[in-house]
Amino acid sequence: MQKKTFWLIALLMLALAAIIVYMAPLSQNEISRKVAEIAPATDAWRAALPRDPAAATAAYMARLPAAATARSDAYFEGGYWLQLIGFVVGIAASWVLLSSRILVALRDKLEQHSQRRWLNNAILIAAFTLLSSILSAPLDVYQRYFREHLYGLANQSFGPWFSDFLLNFALAMVVGTLFISLIFVVMRRLVQTWWIWGAVLSVAFMAFMMLIGPTYIDPLFNTYTALSDEKVKQPILSMARANGVPADNVYQFDASKQSNRISANVSGIFGSAAVRLNDNLLKRTSQPEIEAVMGHELGHYVLNHVYHFLLTFGVLLVVGFAFVKTSYAWALRRWGQRWGIRDQADPVGLPLLAALFSVYLFVMTPVFNTTIRSSEVEADAFGINTSQQADGMAEAHLKLTEYRKANPSDIEEFFFYDHPAPKKRIYMAMRWKAEHWQAP
Ligand SMILES: [Zn+2]
Repeated sequence: MQKKTFWLIALLMLALAAIIVYMAPLSQNEISRKVAEIAPATDAWRAALPRDPAAATAAYMARLPAAATARSDAYFEGGYWLQLIGFVVGIAASWVLLSSRILVALRDKLEQHSQRRWLNNAILIAAFTLLSSILSAPLDVYQRYFREHLYGLANQSFGPWFSDFLLNFALAMVVGTLFISLIFVVMRRLVQTWWIWGAVLSVAFMAFMMLIGPTYIDPLFNTYTALSDEKVKQPILSMARANGVPADNVYQFDASKQSNRISANVSGIFGSAAVRLNDNLLKRTSQPEIEAVMGHELGHYVLNHVYHFLLTFGVLLVVGFAFVKTSYAWALRRWGQRWGIRDQADPVGLPLLAALFSVYLFVMTPVFNTTIRSSEVEADAFGINTSQQADGMAEAHLKLTEYRKANPSDIEEFFFYDHPAPKKRIYMAMRWKAEHWQAP
C-alpha cells in the first residue's frame, strides 16, 4: 500500500464521520416519538406486592412497557456486535498503518532532523494515536453520538459533544503518549523482562489516574457542587459514617447536559473519598432509590473494590503482556522487515503491538466482565443491607433497563455483562425484602 492510499483512506473516514454527524438529528426526532416511559409506582402498588421474591420480581418486570423492553434489548444486543466491529476496525486500522509504512516515513524524516530518541518516539506515538483515531472516527461518531441519540439516551448537540470529545482526545493524547513512551524505554532497557514491568507500570498508572481523576479530570467535563438538599444529603452521610467512609460532604454534578443516565460514584484511593451523584439521579428517582444507589456506591468503597480491581487486572495484564511479548517477537520475525520495524523497541511497531493487545483484551472480555460483575453483586448486597431500601433498589434497577437488557440468558450475561442483569438485581432486592418481611 502506498502512502497516498493511506491519506485517501483517512480522508474517506473523516468524510464518512461527517455524514454520520449530519444524519444524527434526523434520527433523533424519529425515535423520541417512540420512547415509552415506565409508569411510576404508587405506595398502594408496593404494599400489594407479594412476599414471594419471584412473584414480586415478576410484578416489577410487568411494569416495563413492551416497547421499552424492545428498545433496550435492541440497544444492548447491538452493543455485542459493536464490540466485534470495534475489534475488527481496530485490527484493520493497524494493518493500514503498518502496510502504508506511514510511521516509517515519519520516523525517517524525524531522524534527519534530530537524534533525540525520546522526542522522536513521543512524536511517533502521538502520530499513531492521531492517525488511528482518524481511521476509527466513523465508528466512534456512530457509536458515541449518533447511536446514543438514536436511542434517546443523549442530550448533547454536536457542538458541545465534539468539544468534550476533543478534550477527551487531547487528554488521552498527552497522558497516553507519556505512558507509552515510558513503556518503550522499558522495552529498550529491559529486553527480556519488559512485559512484567509493563504490567507493573500499567497498574501504577491506573492507580495514579484514579487518584487524580476526581479532582483534576472529572471537573473538566462537568460542574461539581456541594449537594444543598439536606433531606437527600443527611441519610447518605449517615450511611457513610456508619460504615467508616471518610466523607464529610456529598457532591452533585450536571450529567444531564450529556445524557439522561442516572449515575453516582464514591471514588477515591489512598484514604480519600469523594461521594458524588448526578443530577439525573436527583431528578428522576425518589429518596429510597437514591439511598439504595448510594449504599451500593459506598459498598464499592468499603469493600476495597479499587484494590481488588488493581490486583486482578495486574495479574490479567501480566498474562496479557506475556502474550503480546511472545506474539510480537513472532510477528516481527515474519513481517518486521516488510513493515520497516527495526526491533521490538521501535515505536513504528506500535500498531502491531496495539493489534496484539486488542486480540488479548477481546478474547478475555468475559473474564474482565465477570471480574467486575462479581464486585457489582457484592456492592448490591452491601447497598441493600446498608440502605434497607429493597423497593428503592428494585425501582432504580428497573430504570437502568433503559440501557441494559433486562432479562438476558446466563450465557449472554457471562459474556457481555459487567453488571448483573437488571432482573437478577430486582430479584436480589425482593429476596432481601422477603427475609426482612414486615406486614405492609
Ligand atoms: Zn457498582
